[in-house]
Amino acid sequence: MTVHKKWSVDGLEAEYAQVETKDLLERLNITGRWAYYGFAVRPGWLPILEQMFGDMIEAGWDRTGLDQIKQKFGTLRVHLEGVHPVEVHDVIDDHEAMGQITCELCGTVGLLRTIAQIDRKGRSRGCYAITLCDDHYASVENPQKEK
Ligand SMILES: [Zn+2]
Repeated sequence: MTVHKKWSVDGLEAEYAQVETKDLLERLNITGRWAYYGFAVRPGWLPILEQMFGDMIEAGWDRTGLDQIKQKFGTLRVHLEGVHPVEVHDVIDDHEAMGQITCELCGTVGLLRTIAQIDRKGRSRGCYAITLCDDHYASVENPQKEK
């Protein structure tokens, strides 16, 4: 069963693209423990993943060992288990770098943002990092934006 996790914070909203990433993995015959339910990345990064998988296969990837794809501290992280050609890892590095300049919500040019969360009493609730375009960043309903 596919779980669709809804993500919503500070006026930003997106469903994780788990159905779409699962379809992509199946279409390309990519195996791994995550292939059953897809990855928890937001829709803006889907084109990067599609391009990355294609380039990895072209670089000699045997479509095995895909362990995890996620957003961590606002950046795209791809984990591959096992031994693979160095060219395959180069492809991954290039596309992780693409994530740093691509809005996670809509896929246009973005920047890594750090957004501090303050509760109604003015207390800090920590912060989160996310890569957003100017428009999505402008739509953050939060008084504490950090550069
Ligand atoms: Zn955007």
